Amino acid sequence: MRAAAAAALVLSVLDGSRAAGDPPGAEAAPTAPARVPEVDWSPDEFSGPAYDDWLLGDPFRLVPRARSQVVRRYPRGTPLQGGFPGRRLLLTFDDGPFPETTPRLLEILAREKVHAVFFVVAGRVDETPLRRNGRRMVQQIIAGGHVVGNHSFNHPHLVSLAEEGWRQQIQRAHAAIFSAIDYAPTLFRPPYGHFNGAIDRYLTYRGYTRVHWTYVADEFRGRSPEVMTRGIMEQFAERERLGRNLGGILLLHDSHERSVDCAGVLIRRLKAENCTLLDAGDDDIWRFVDVGEFFQPAGQGGDESTTASSLPAAPAVLEEARRWCEEHAGELDEIRRLDDIQVNINEDGFGSVAGHDPPDEGTTEP
Ligand SMILES: [Zn+2]
Repeated sequence: MRAAAAAALVLSVLDGSRAAGDPPGAEAAPTAPARVPEVDWSPDEFSGPAYDDWLLGDPFRLVPRARSQVVRRYPRGTPLQGGFPGRRLLLTFDDGPFPETTPRLLEILAREKVHAVFFVVAGRVDETPLRRNGRRMVQQIIAGGHVVGNHSFNHPHLVSLAEEGWRQQIQRAHAAIFSAIDYAPTLFRPPYGHFNGAIDRYLTYRGYTRVHWTYVADEFRGRSPEVMTRGIMEQFAERERLGRNLGGILLLHDSHERSVDCAGVLIRRLKAENCTLLDAGDDDIWRFVDVGEFFQPAGQGGDESTTASSLPAAPAVLEEARRWCEEHAGELDEIRRLDDIQVNINEDGFGSVAGHDPPDEGTTEP
């Protein structure tokens, strides 16, 4: 026990923070809420008592929601990927926060009344000279009703690190995020989507849900926001052709100005699409849902079933969509003109556009 406690103390010192992730044996930070249960803990064991209080936190607590609508928590550690019933999209932004681009994105999301998940590279939140801006940025993200997820400390290929290395990447990021926003993140997206069985078990043990993606903007090729949006729309169409669920997780990066613009263009295009769907009597309209709602039909996540299932939007959502259509009736044609851009989906699922593909900027990976 003494060895475990010492190891735990070392771990917490390495983390540079004694936030909620600290095991018993480490001194609690004076400002941190007393959430650490009094049980034995060893950093070398995957299995152990469930530290739900401090491991799970509550990413939803800042999302306004009536008490009667409290979401069922997604089973922890269950990976989220693939398609989901209904035209429900979860918007996610990786690799930030970026003081240059994230604030404008937050403005767009606020204007469009859309919530997103920001998978932050926590080194940007915790390390000088980024720390001051980074901490303020994640606090603004939370204030906007969004959720902050863990995307490692400085974005390595976790699978190329020794176990101690990837554990630190997860744990340091966890502590840095907790320290900045006072809740424990429960969503983890592995850099580049790469992980292995040991990493996965550790994530599960730490109470994390691993979140992947269904749709990508493929922003690393210097394309315009309009072309990227068309690429995403074509991915929707492709899934529809394949008879797969259309709902899913969209991956963008708030590191790029064009990604921020793409988010705005896409949201408006889908709102315009809803006008067509509503006219046709389809009540399964496109909606960007917050992470709580996305998780709600527990057990249906990760459904790659070939049978597409629809899910009607709530009456209030339909009503708001109708109102939007009335208010923007004069702009619909202009918004839909986007569709004149022809894109093709390649075998990786990315849209390609003749004459619109500047040289690769070095990586196509998230
Ligand atoms: Zn990333």
